[in-house]
Amino acid sequence: MGIATTPFRPFNAPNGDPLEKACRCNGNAQCLSYAASVPMCPSFKATGDVRHSPKGRADALRAWHEDRRTAEATIDEADLLGTLDTCLGCKACSTTCPVQVDIPAMRAAFYADVYTRKARPLADRAMLLAELLSPLMLRASTVIRPFWPLARRAAEAVLGVTDLPADLAQPLPRSARVSLSELKQRALPERAFLVWRDWFSALYDGATQRDVYQGLTALGYVPLFVEMLPAGKVAGDLGDRAGFAKMAGRLVAALSDGAASGAPEVLLPQEFLAAEVRRGATGYPACLPGTHAAAEDQIQGHQMPRRKRWFDARTVSQMPCKLFGQGVSTEAY
Ligand code: SF4
Repeated sequence: MGIATTPFRPFNAPNGDPLEKACRCNGNAQCLSYAASVPMCPSFKATGDVRHSPKGRADALRAWHEDRRTAEATIDEADLLGTLDTCLGCKACSTTCPVQVDIPAMRAAFYADVYTRKARPLADRAMLLAELLSPLMLRASTVIRPFWPLARRAAEAVLGVTDLPADLAQPLPRSARVSLSELKQRALPERAFLVWRDWFSALYDGATQRDVYQGLTALGYVPLFVEMLPAGKVAGDLGDRAGFAKMAGRLVAALSDGAASGAPEVLLPQEFLAAEVRRGATGYPACLPGTHAAAEDQIQGHQMPRRKRWFDARTVSQMPCKLFGQGVSTEAY
């Protein structure tokens, strides 16, 4: 019997229950830390309120789960929503907590349940729509760019969101892009290096895209930024399982085409699939076998091409090179 299976609680959820980890929380309170070196839990550190910690949220979710089991009403669903809404979704609890209480995954399960009975908040619906329409927005970014400062202020005022990015990214040159149909046909140039972006990076993070482009070019590759498909992160986090499954399914198919091309690949940012792989609702495949090619070049003693022009040396060292290989967990939430 281990720490994750010790029945400290009067009831435990069956294996596979979306709220199983809330029942497994053993109250060790490591999440109630103010130490700067401990990533868990930013919302607790900011508020000092245990209700806004993984422990507080797990306690509330467990009580809600018990209410559903016993058909009682000891917990106010609106209060529970309040404590879950302040979770940043950083996932620090899913790795730092000894029981790996994964609040964002349980929150998604809770939202999926509760929003079949209640209307979603306007801001959530806007974010879901923004993720869904992000490929269109990216295509129209040249037209939208002059109006973006105005649209940004309007969105902040109407939706109550803050700090939306100030600018849209400048489009990459056509020679640095590859469409999904080109990828499928495997019409890639020699030394092609595929770069996958999440919708946020593609739309807003022009500086990083430029750095990655320059870094890969300096290493002698032909960087090709793959036509962006949203990974369904917003849909997954907000409990829109149908939306998540649809977007993730499309991305899985494209990733498989990329893997079949044999070209090395990098994810930008590196975390963008991590959450989705862990979520595993549609079973992201371990389909990036070419991802370590650049590192293997060095391990096998291949001469790296000399850089042709100045670039910031940090560009390469900070490039998101942690990539996915075999052994990806497909544990469902
Ligand atoms: S995911 Fe939420 S609960 Fe977990 S550490 Fe981050 S803010 Fe805290």
